[in-house]
Amino acid sequence: MINWAWFGLRSGRVTTPWPEDPGDDGQKGVYGMPRFHPARCEAGCSDCVSACPTGAITQSPEGRTGIDYARCISCQRCTEVCPTGAFEPSAEWAFAVRDRADLIFREAGSEPTDGPKPTPRRVPRELKRSLHIRHLDAGSCNGCESELEALLNPFYNLHRLGIFFTPSPRFADLLLVTGPVTIAMREPLLRTYEAMPEPRFVMATGTCATGGGIAGGGYACHQGLQGILPVDLWLPGCPPNPAAILDALLVLLDRRPARVQCGQLETP
Ligand code: SF4
Repeated sequence: MINWAWFGLRSGRVTTPWPEDPGDDGQKGVYGMPRFHPARCEAGCSDCVSACPTGAITQSPEGRTGIDYARCISCQRCTEVCPTGAFEPSAEWAFAVRDRADLIFREAGSEPTDGPKPTPRRVPRELKRSLHIRHLDAGSCNGCESELEALLNPFYNLHRLGIFFTPSPRFADLLLVTGPVTIAMREPLLRTYEAMPEPRFVMATGTCATGGGIAGGGYACHQGLQGILPVDLWLPGCPPNPAAILDALLVLLDRRPARVQCGQLETP
């Protein structure tokens, strides 16, 4: 005990002031989603489509390439095979959106092709500084869990922001789901959601939950939360790093702006 007290005093404060104040987000040099420049695409080239292991990159019959970031695991294979730099590596990992359609690349400012955007639900004022999360692993590889755990270390110190994990859905405001939703986990997922009091919110965390990831759509699992629960926030990433999860939670609470629109991250 004395040793721990001495260690603490000697280390001083290690918690980052980010994101409420400028400071280190702890993710220097980390790759994020590949940045897409459709104008650089070469006619007839489909190297990225063949290289993408999750089907995130598609090509229309007219040869137009598109990307759905909800299915992207940031493996960087498209950036490696692209001969023209149409896909390039980036550090854009803060990809939280309220509307899943915003994860599909389209011309900036254009409307999604499947109709107008739905009006997002807002978290009530009383939850903005006191949010309780029930995490549910719906078939994850545990990569996302490892990043979630890091939120509780002294560097990120999630509790300083008034955000807490709770083991019981009865006390939870937010259901944070990881994994592609295996067939076996569908029922426990729905029962957990039903056990939560209103108002209840849902966050799809990690590419498995947003679009199925590598395993999604196979014989044993769904393709994430779409069509299973009403999702209030989508955060792709494989796994999303702790700073991305923290950023997403604050976007949900309206304490940070959502910066991704039309599959493109606005730079401040
Ligand atoms: S980085 Fe994303 S889009 Fe590119 S190949 Fe990997 S999964 Fe596909």
